[in-house]
Amino acid sequence: MQELKTETIKNFKQFFEGEFYQDYMLRTIYANDASPYQEKPIAVAIPKNDEDLKKLIQLALENDMSLIPRAAGTSLAGQVVGKGIIVDISKYFTKIIELNKEEHWVRIQPGVVLDELNQILEADGLFFGPETSTSNRCMMGGMLGNNSCGSHLPIYGSTRDHTLEVKVLLSDGSEALFKELSKSEFEEKCHLNNLEGNLYKDIRKMLESVENQEQIRKEFPDPNIPRRNTGYAIDILLETELFSESSQAFNFAKLIAGSEGTLALITEIKLNLVPAPPKEKVVMAAHFSSINESLKANILALEFDPGAVELIDKTILDITKDNASQKNNRFFIEGDPAALLIIEFARDTKEEIQEVTQKLELALKNEGLGFHYPLIYGNNIDKVWNLRKAGLGVLSNIPGDAKPIGFIEDTAVKVKDLPSYIEEFDKILEEHNLDCVYYAHAGSGELHLRPVLNLKKEEDIELYHTVALKTAKLVKKYNGSLSGEHGDGRLRGEFIPLMLGEHNYNLLKGLKNTWDPKHIFNPWKITDTPKMNTSLRYEPGQQTRDVKTIFNFSKTEGYVRAAENCNGSGDCRKSHIIDGTMCPSYQASRDEKNTTRARANMLRDVLNNPANENPFENADLYEILDLCLSCKACKSECPSGVDMTKLKAEFLQHYYDIKGVPLRSNLVANISKINSLLSIMPGLSNFFLSNKWFS
Ligand SMILES: Cc1cc2nc3c(=O)[nH]c(=O)nc-3n(C[C@H](O)[C@H](O)[C@H](O)COP(=O)(O)OP(=O)(O)OC[C@H]3O[C@@H](n4cnc5c(N)ncnc54)[C@H](O)[C@@H]3O)c2cc1C
Ligand code: SF4
Repeated sequence: MQELKTETIKNFKQFFEGEFYQDYMLRTIYANDASPYQEKPIAVAIPKNDEDLKKLIQLALENDMSLIPRAAGTSLAGQVVGKGIIVDISKYFTKIIELNKEEHWVRIQPGVVLDELNQILEADGLFFGPETSTSNRCMMGGMLGNNSCGSHLPIYGSTRDHTLEVKVLLSDGSEALFKELSKSEFEEKCHLNNLEGNLYKDIRKMLESVENQEQIRKEFPDPNIPRRNTGYAIDILLETELFSESSQAFNFAKLIAGSEGTLALITEIKLNLVPAPPKEKVVMAAHFSSINESLKANILALEFDPGAVELIDKTILDITKDNASQKNNRFFIEGDPAALLIIEFARDTKEEIQEVTQKLELALKNEGLGFHYPLIYGNNIDKVWNLRKAGLGVLSNIPGDAKPIGFIEDTAVKVKDLPSYIEEFDKILEEHNLDCVYYAHAGSGELHLRPVLNLKKEEDIELYHTVALKTAKLVKKYNGSLSGEHGDGRLRGEFIPLMLGEHNYNLLKGLKNTWDPKHIFNPWKITDTPKMNTSLRYEPGQQTRDVKTIFNFSKTEGYVRAAENCNGSGDCRKSHIIDGTMCPSYQASRDEKNTTRARANMLRDVLNNPANENPFENADLYEILDLCLSCKACKSECPSGVDMTKLKAEFLQHYYDIKGVPLRSNLVANISKINSLLSIMPGLSNFFLSNKWFS
């Protein structure tokens, strides 16, 4: 891969309407997502329109570069981490283009935030069904890229299920619209003499082959597992009217779902909408004495047709005790349960709700499962879901370098297999003497399993790989899916040949080569992925720098770890439209640069790799912290408790010790003295205050 020449960039910028950065600060801010991976991109582009995207494709083709499409950057598997040019569509691709209330669909740009979309649709009694725990900031382009889904998958399915059409730019810069095609329309497409035509010819050849059909049906995850995000969805395309007994029409939009920005740039999405759920809702928050007991109860609960069944374990419950924004959401917890099952029902009448919860409680008691079954109604239901959704974020709050790491966090098996799968999984943990956090989508066979590792230690980096490999083999034994919803990215790509078989893996590689012969779109994700324990946030054996501080940072075991607590979950990107306060400067600018996450990324990088002997002597850090208003919103809203006000105050003390206090700060600090002085000469002070050049 080449470097971008200054002359090339100069020419490029003349015609590019968006923003384009190559400086250290922007490259550092965009070096991470919510995963443990880190790679500094060559540049960051914030395109304004489709023409800008075409210019970026041209730039990539001519300079042997790659483009990494990025929305809110909340991916958990390193999907938006890479050495190429980050293409951030989150700022300018935010339009809702067309809403058809009668036919229940909406056409949008990929940078629309899910919760913001649903808020607009609420007035018409409609919404987009699949949700994620990140729904208040994740964007539809990202949800489609990862084929996201959430707690209510049993009712609403995944993003793929509701994607009707996708408009894209292909790897030669040409436009294509993917939608359902009849058999004759498909044949017409095969006759096109261009890249789009090649895509149709290639998939026809691949899926007509009897050997390929047998291999796909044999090796892809069990069709009864609804959470399946491993590799490209050629198994879904196979089960269409062109290649099987199914009556399902062929639609390449289903392949774009879950393709992680590796096949095309999405410019527009047409989504199916569903009617708002029945009005009457209840959550039973059943308490259990062990994880195993809760998993048995999960199988029983599913017989009562719930909308969601979610698990929260004791580790998460314990951390939320000290979390400022989660304390109030724990109102329903009694005693010290080892696990909670959050079982939600939506029905048309109160009587139906009462009947189903009474029957479930009786059934659980009869089987000796659980010890407390509180029912939660109305606005309190949101508090329960907030507690559940905070799960992943709050895990960073565990003090020290060892953290619950998400690397086998996305496995899905059949629900009935969950208890025995977890039993075998626990044996792997025992072998390696590891603790683990368990939570999430028990109702659809997926648990987020997060063993505690210290990824600064060489032996734990090895263990990271060893446990991932053993778990992948275990999931394969159960014919499960290594990724249920978070995608493959840098994390799971290495194991795709194991999960889907070498034959199918070669089909995926062939597909990538046809779609993107020069590999300009998000390379090394899904295919050709490097070993999963490389390109991590920390160097193997990295020591945590001890920084002498004025404030007390003992709770986070030091200043550096206080910044490192940011796991990139992106909560600081939620907007005021959906009750976000953090961070005001991001809300006003919608620039990633002004998020708490960006500031934490910069702090971490500068402190761990200081350019000067004194790490605080850094003008970039000064600049990025300058727009923090010290409002302390992040202290309570950030699930990882990153307190940027305190981090900034500490930084400024050291910076001013070196550089001196600027006039602006001196004036503000001495405002009362200055006011008393000016009150002696009101004429003079009024002159200055009313003069536009001074006030
Ligand atoms: C705390 C936490 C909880 C989470 N909970 C869930 C959950 O419940 N369910 C779930 O499914 N996921 C979950 N996730 C993962 C993540 O939030 C989702 O995958 C989310 O949908 C990603 O959206 P995003 O806007 O951040 O996308 P990004 O991370 O920016 O991108 C996601 C993928 O889409 C591609 N992409 C983005 N825009 C385009 C485009 N215009 N063209 C082509 N490709 C594009 C990117 O290249 C990337 O591969 C969670 C993450 C965190 C941090
Ligand atoms: S304290 Fe700073 S970083 Fe935190 S929300 Fe307020 S302005 Fe943003």
